[in-house]
Amino acid sequence: MKDLVLSESLATARTRLAEALRAAGRPATDARLLAVSKTKPAAMIREAWHLGQRDFGENYVQEALDKQAELADLHDIVWHFIGPLQSNKTRAVAEHFAWVHSVDRDRIARRLNDQRPEGLEPLNVCLQVNISGEPSKSGVTLDELPALAESVLAMPALRLRGLMAIPAPAEEIEAQREPFARLRRALEALRVRFPEAPLDTLSMGMTADLEAAVLEGATLVRLGTAIFGERTARQ
Ligand SMILES: *Cc1c(COP(=O)(O)O)cnc(C)c1O
Repeated sequence: MKDLVLSESLATARTRLAEALRAAGRPATDARLLAVSKTKPAAMIREAWHLGQRDFGENYVQEALDKQAELADLHDIVWHFIGPLQSNKTRAVAEHFAWVHSVDRDRIARRLNDQRPEGLEPLNVCLQVNISGEPSKSGVTLDELPALAESVLAMPALRLRGLMAIPAPAEEIEAQREPFARLRRALEALRVRFPEAPLDTLSMGMTADLEAAVLEGATLVRLGTAIFGERTARQ
């Protein structure tokens, strides 16, 4: 994707999401695009913002802070932190993001809650689930999920919105759907268990598996390559 034209790739991504929602028999407003801008320059984010995109996902804290400083004039931009989160980075995330999708342990949640500045809205949180059960991957197990959810729900500076997962790659759409269906059922179970909680978000689906995720109820699809083109080495 050398000659990427952002207006075209973004329009194509929007059409792709709209088609997937239609194929799933879901309303057009049921899911939105999170533009994953990691490794991409602030100028591209600004261009996407001018094309109407508001939600952006970043994986690396320092890179994100640099771009946020450059884009401070875009007041209604919504920053999502979607990468692995170490303890020494929680304060920056608590102070500079509206959402975190990658909370997978109590210690990290507690630090985000303690470090969220008082003047800001509660930090929107998705719990990352290791949905394919891969030993070396981030994410809470399905067994540990209810206890972590209960703990986060008691933290006043966090607002538990739902679940996020990155399944093991699969080629066929049926194979792609299975882990997404498990994540959807896990969210449904949490809703039954915690009926008062604002659990409205399934953060799932990327460039390779958006359609499968939307068929299984994704509400926030995280598209990087499809919008911004291939990534080379990390900046
Ligand atoms: C990089 C990344 C994405 C986007 O992946 P693409 O395949 O480029 O769409 C989505 N989610 C997470 C957590 C990522 O790290």
